[in-house]
Amino acid sequence: MSRRGHGPRGPLVIPGYVNTHVHTFEHLSRGLIPDDLSTQAWGAPYARPFYAAPTEQEAYVSARLACLEMLRSGTTCFVGVNILVSHGHLDAVAQTVGESGMRAVLGRGVFDLLPKTPAPAMLPDLQERVLSPSAGAALQEVASLLDRWTSTAGGRIRAWASIYGLLSHCSDELFAGLRALADRYGVGMAFHMASSIEEAKAVEKRVGTWPITQLDKLGVLSPNLLLTHCTAVTDREVELLSGARRSRSAPEPRCAWRRESPKSARSPRCFRLASPSH
Ligand SMILES: [Zn+2]
Repeated sequence: MSRRGHGPRGPLVIPGYVNTHVHTFEHLSRGLIPDDLSTQAWGAPYARPFYAAPTEQEAYVSARLACLEMLRSGTTCFVGVNILVSHGHLDAVAQTVGESGMRAVLGRGVFDLLPKTPAPAMLPDLQERVLSPSAGAALQEVASLLDRWTSTAGGRIRAWASIYGLLSHCSDELFAGLRALADRYGVGMAFHMASSIEEAKAVEKRVGTWPITQLDKLGVLSPNLLLTHCTAVTDREVELLSGARRSRSAPEPRCAWRRESPKSARSPRCFRLASPSH
């Protein structure tokens, strides 16, 4: 094969990439959790217990690995708003980001509901660490982070009003309260939403609509909202998201599509929503 090529030689200078959804803890889970599970089979028995388990030191080490891998691929900024266990764990991630020279948006991944079906395979002590006893307690956790700092490391690290998300894990009161907190502190908000057809159908069974429509009813859609996944979205909901430029979506195709039928997913349209022209 010929090695001849055309064009300039030497290093290529490009702007840094932005990764809009990172779970920095997950770098330590490789090889422990199967890759081919449905969302429900993956979340309750594996993912959430794992998220609740790392110590602050392990959170720091895992975040260092995450930052290293991102920098190697040219990513200089990321959004990591799903830190479940404590503010101390979030501080450990912030320390790593500060040392790496990267920029990041960080936040907690609190929630106040646990789905009853399928039965959550979560040990009581882990449940106690990740599940807030009420919407008010979860909002207090978010507010206490924003009271401590909304920006640090010379402005490279920002705190957002975030929760774990999904209507199966967060009450209407929690979503509405988060919007109020984001407005009060003048920060963005972010959470998972509409990540699977099974989730959307469960939400429809409970409230009569799919997830994005319910968020619209709750008055949560806004320009400062970053939604993660959004693979289970109807055409009408795409219009809701795009019509008034009321939110950004951060589809995660590698993760979300391996759990979903591409036929039923709307992510290609959500990619367009996430583009600068919208
Ligand atoms: Zn996620």
